[in-house]
Amino acid sequence: MRFNRSFITAALMFGLAGASLSLLQPALAAPVPGQFKVKYYGQFSEFPVGSVQPRGWIQKWLERQAQGLTGHPENMSYPYDTCMYAGVIPPPPVKDKYWKDWWPYEQSAYYVDATTRLSWLINDSSISQRRDANLNYILDHSTGTNYGGSHWCWPNAVVGRALMAQFSATGNPRVAATMENWLLTSAGEIEKGGRSGANFEEAFYLYGLTGDSRLLELCRKVYDDYLNDTNSFCTTARIQSETPFHEHGVTAAEELKCLPLMYSYTGNTEALRLAGRAYDKVLDNSLMPDGGIVSSEHLGPAAFYSVHESCDITDWSWSLGFMFMATGEARFADLIERTTFNALPGAVTKDFKQLQYFSAVNQMVIAATNSHTPHWPTRMTYRAAHDTECCAGNINRAMPNYVIRMWMRSHDGGITAVYYGPSELTTTVSGQKITIAEETDYPFRDSISFRIKTAAPVKFNFQVRIPEWCTNATIQVNGNDQRKTPEAGTFASVQKAFRDGDVVNLKLPMPVRIEDWFHGQSVCFVRGPLVYSLQIDEKRVEHSRDPDNIRAFMAGHDIQSFPEVEFLPQSDWRYGFNAAQKNDLSKIQVVESGMTDNPFRENQTPVQLEIPLCHLTAWGLPPDEDRSFLSEPSGLPVANEEQAEELQTNRLFVPYGATHLRLTTIPVVPARRTDNSQSQAELSRFQQ
Ligand SMILES: [Zn+2]
Repeated sequence: MRFNRSFITAALMFGLAGASLSLLQPALAAPVPGQFKVKYYGQFSEFPVGSVQPRGWIQKWLERQAQGLTGHPENMSYPYDTCMYAGVIPPPPVKDKYWKDWWPYEQSAYYVDATTRLSWLINDSSISQRRDANLNYILDHSTGTNYGGSHWCWPNAVVGRALMAQFSATGNPRVAATMENWLLTSAGEIEKGGRSGANFEEAFYLYGLTGDSRLLELCRKVYDDYLNDTNSFCTTARIQSETPFHEHGVTAAEELKCLPLMYSYTGNTEALRLAGRAYDKVLDNSLMPDGGIVSSEHLGPAAFYSVHESCDITDWSWSLGFMFMATGEARFADLIERTTFNALPGAVTKDFKQLQYFSAVNQMVIAATNSHTPHWPTRMTYRAAHDTECCAGNINRAMPNYVIRMWMRSHDGGITAVYYGPSELTTTVSGQKITIAEETDYPFRDSISFRIKTAAPVKFNFQVRIPEWCTNATIQVNGNDQRKTPEAGTFASVQKAFRDGDVVNLKLPMPVRIEDWFHGQSVCFVRGPLVYSLQIDEKRVEHSRDPDNIRAFMAGHDIQSFPEVEFLPQSDWRYGFNAAQKNDLSKIQVVESGMTDNPFRENQTPVQLEIPLCHLTAWGLPPDEDRSFLSEPSGLPVANEEQAEELQTNRLFVPYGATHLRLTTIPVVPARRTDNSQSQAELSRFQQ
């Protein structure tokens, strides 16, 4: 349903206090989702929520979310088993010594945003009811200094995304009025910066739809604070220096968005230049092979046993999306696909009932007594309820966010397929309603069909992304090959008057690639956007061996339906890759089988690889059911590890997202015995 009543009428009906109402008095045009009232400088912009609908395996994924954590928050313990934003959240029965009174609102905000977005992507009345209970309470109990029970700026920046999504999906002016009232009334707190400043995201969004300069002014103050306040991690000087950022991963993802957004809404080219520098610095230092950003919980250098917090899987994808929209650089979309198809499914169980707080590309044992971060021993286990609750709420946002941005409007008014996967876009071009069905099993298959439905011919620029990894893409329009070979890392364009039934076929051949990681110490096998991991037989153990501290938090909460689980290795993972074979892809076999509803479920993956590896008998400890050995990660292969030809064996690799136990960056065995100049020469060949 669309609402056309004026913004001010809505504010009056809503009964805003007189003092607050004065903030809204300039007669601004009513905001309409997807219709900018100011010049927008970005290369791409989002369609309103609901324009893109999931299909195929992505729809099944989202339906599993509704059967899993998103539909059953009571299993995630406090605060998800309280009223959340549908009331005033009571304090927890047991408080962590670090506990802050705004925590339950931050965590609930992640959940409410996830639920709101999911509700517009699948047909599930229980999800819609959870959305309505939370948002209606906020709409009925907000004065400008609070959203429902929360007057804290940072949680309100997060739950503001739910309001933004709800406005985007419905056009309900009451939602926009509530947001604007909060942003302008609480501007004094928001402009102090830090995470409170993250409300700039909603302020930019509403400014774009209303042209209200007071919202832009608020954004400018936050931007100035980030670039100039000596307490800010991203001052101009810190962005320009060679030193990596020292900041909490979530905070960095939240605050850096201000740079690309400032460019997109004002054309400030200095903001764009600083954005490029800042994001590339994070990626150069902290990018992992699964597309995740090292964050434990601060940003850190990428290394063999690095972990990322699950909040950062969601938040960096969202943050990088703004860089993509500002710059139009395909590489950012490539990266968001890589995070979503690897880091995300790797951090959850395949029924979406448990998640890791910290996950790693190399995790050969998952047990409550074993973690790459010994300070938090249980955070690498798969569980619905963790000792700190942020990730359990935040992980629910990742796939809905991906779907909402799969298609975008390009700056010339055309339509662009940005992130791929089975989906359907419904929008208008020059007033003509048009639907484009994207039929594909991507990323497990390399072909994508776009089928156009329109009542009348309509001319527009239809663009498709050509990933950087794809050097021989082909495009057919109604069966006719396009003459020009699309260039990798760009967008290919089909401009014509599209008629009903027109079909654009895109083929993105996916040869296996070998990537060097960690200064040539390891290699990683990649095919299209999917990263592959050594398949390790696992024993799934539902356990109750939690340390006392975490047991205390769970006391009194019903988390039995989604128990915590350990995964113990049942096959050897001590393998290396012979550096001499880095140029020889002929020995790697691609094994394809039928597509399944849950392509990330163990033993149901539609693509596997067979790769010759050498057995490293001196590396670490053998798999063992005796859990006493699980206290330490197993280090790296010793420098004098010998590999004999007779120890070579073909091993099975599966998509990273289909694993709980995995070895992903395979140690390169002889490389460390070559002299330095040779290794460097070898390295550079594979870093093309
Ligand atoms: Zn978290």
